[in-house]
Amino acid sequence: MTQGDELKVFISTRESACDECGEDLGPKAWITLVEDKGALCLSCADLDHLVFLPSGDAALTRRARKHSTLVAVVLKWSRARKRYERQGLLVELQALEQAEMECLADSEARSRRCDREAGRREGLDQQYVQCFASRVRELFPGCPAGREIVTAEHACLKYSGRVGRSSAAKDLDAQAVRLAVIAHIRHAETKYDALLAGGHERREARAEIEDAVIRVLAKWEP
Ligand SMILES: [Zn+2]
Repeated sequence: MTQGDELKVFISTRESACDECGEDLGPKAWITLVEDKGALCLSCADLDHLVFLPSGDAALTRRARKHSTLVAVVLKWSRARKRYERQGLLVELQALEQAEMECLADSEARSRRCDREAGRREGLDQQYVQCFASRVRELFPGCPAGREIVTAEHACLKYSGRVGRSSAAKDLDAQAVRLAVIAHIRHAETKYDALLAGGHERREARAEIEDAVIRVLAKWEP
């Protein structure tokens, strides 16, 4: 993929709303722009499982990019310079962790990792995560160990939230839990992210992996 085809996420400079879910995103939202559709929130764009790696550490950035199937460049408009400026990348958590391990000789990477972990955990309601995770385990007993936590954390992230934080999910509605599990399966068990990274349209990519998702669900369900 050439640089020009990279997925781009813009930090908005004015009030914006998501054209798909209608959510009011406030004045500094992180959005993607889709042809014919306008702005999408990261949740609707299926990019909300990615973590932000600020620019500044060339080695870490290079390694994280290498390990991440899906990468989005984060850009922000500079009024002073009248152009978009790169703020960093959105990458998979696993890719960032691997890159950090490779940079471990560098003690700075370690402290950054601690900061990031703390920041991420702060955004989560731990009790809710545990509750959501046990519900995942109960409804999908065949799901591999640890995945219920990944699924629950993703579903509960404040910035992503609609599935996890909706009032239905608060009551741990089976359908809401199922949607969160499907979102996890898409990213973790299918080539969905690779398709998005390759420039496939979301609907098209979802259609292509639908059978794979159904197969995994069948294995995980009782
Ligand atoms: Zn949305």
